[in-house]
Amino acid sequence: MRRREFISWTLKAGAVALLPAIWTGCQRNSAKASIGLPPLAYAEDALEPHISARTMAFHYGKHHQGYVDNVNKLVAKTPYAGMPLEALVVSSAGDAEAGAIFNNAAQVYNHNFYWNSMAPGGGKEPTGAVQEGLAASFGSYDGFKKAFLDAATGQFGSGWAWLVIRDGKLEVMATSNADTPLAHGLKPVLVIDVWEHAYYLDYQNQRKAYVEAFLANLVNWEFAAQNLS
Ligand code: FE
Repeated sequence: MRRREFISWTLKAGAVALLPAIWTGCQRNSAKASIGLPPLAYAEDALEPHISARTMAFHYGKHHQGYVDNVNKLVAKTPYAGMPLEALVVSSAGDAEAGAIFNNAAQVYNHNFYWNSMAPGGGKEPTGAVQEGLAASFGSYDGFKKAFLDAATGQFGSGWAWLVIRDGKLEVMATSNADTPLAHGLKPVLVIDVWEHAYYLDYQNQRKAYVEAFLANLVNWEFAAQNLS
């Protein structure tokens, strides 16, 4: 509701004394309805030297923020307005007329997942259920690393490499552009962004070096473990 319409309505309704409280409520409701940019779990320079603060400033502050802004503009005055992010991704994936909404919503979801897939001091070998799951699917941790590296470097053009759960088993897959395992009924466990904007400032065209740095120094197995349960 616009401010002038709101004031006119409250005057007619004789609700002048309640105006501040009602306005605050309206604002709170509209804030609830929009998709937000979640705060990072670490400082923008915390992943250095593997991912620079400059990359983070552009990638999180400009690209990710841009997808958030776009999706909120696109869903306004559509049946998708106010929908939680995951539901928005899944429902717009099956709507041929909602391609732009899906692309931006999925990119918000994928980036949220990506920031959580890394941590300062990450990259140590997984333990417990993650280790057992990787061994069952890939033979060993080294087997997983090879499959993940192959998927991430083999993805032609922009996209993502994922560890997902399919039929109760861990699997590596790549997706193009904004595509996401959620749209295919799969549960994501871990992801790396292989769009050039993720690594070009730090690694230029050396995508393999970026993926190797992710595996060796950044991967957050505690987050992956949370996604197994
Ligand atoms: Fe990205």
